[in-house]
Amino acid sequence: MAPFILIVEDEADLAIMLRYNLEAEGYRVATVESGDEASLQMREEMPDLILLDWMLPGLSGIELCRRWRTKDETSRVPIIMMTARGEEEERIRGLATGADDYVVKPFSVPELLARVKAHLRRANPSLLSNALKSGDIELDRQTHRVSRSGKEVHLGPTEYRLLEYLMQSPGRVYSREQLLDGVWGHDVYVDERTVDVHVGRLRKAINRGRVKDPIRTVRGAGYAFDEKFAVAS
Ligand code: CA
Repeated sequence: MAPFILIVEDEADLAIMLRYNLEAEGYRVATVESGDEASLQMREEMPDLILLDWMLPGLSGIELCRRWRTKDETSRVPIIMMTARGEEEERIRGLATGADDYVVKPFSVPELLARVKAHLRRANPSLLSNALKSGDIELDRQTHRVSRSGKEVHLGPTEYRLLEYLMQSPGRVYSREQLLDGVWGHDVYVDERTVDVHVGRLRKAINRGRVKDPIRTVRGAGYAFDEKFAVAS
């Protein structure tokens, strides 16, 4: 699945222009105009990167950045601040609150895109690569082929997306609700038990005759792709 970028920007023209350019690069994009809207969006799906305007109605970008850095679920999401202020002092203040990068308006779009890519890659290298590999499992995003110990594993489209989603962030525990949103999409209404059914099918297909199950069930929480499995194999 393409990386998901959240734009927090109250200037509609700029938000539209950024969205257009990011979508043209293949990213999934959501735009919001304030910190409150950003929080709502994050509850639906956590972004892989945030483009954050400095001057916003309500809480400023600086304050939002500071708050997000102190929360577990947002502490590691790359944040690029966008601001009209170019003073060195402001730049330092922006970075001091935990922003990963800083662009001054008006900025060059190709340069911003390059920075977005660099920060996504740094935060999570598997997000942008075509091949995901963990232990003896390989997943090719271009051909949608999955193999284990060199032998092809046949997966249905949903099981494929589920495995891709889990393999993108090894070790991270996803709730059934998060998996539904990430794999099935927000607009699809299916029961959370559907997740269990497809995880069961995925396990059956990739574990055929093998002892090591890379998918961990976390009681009361959800599922994760096991990092330890990747090292142990
Ligand atoms: Ca603004």
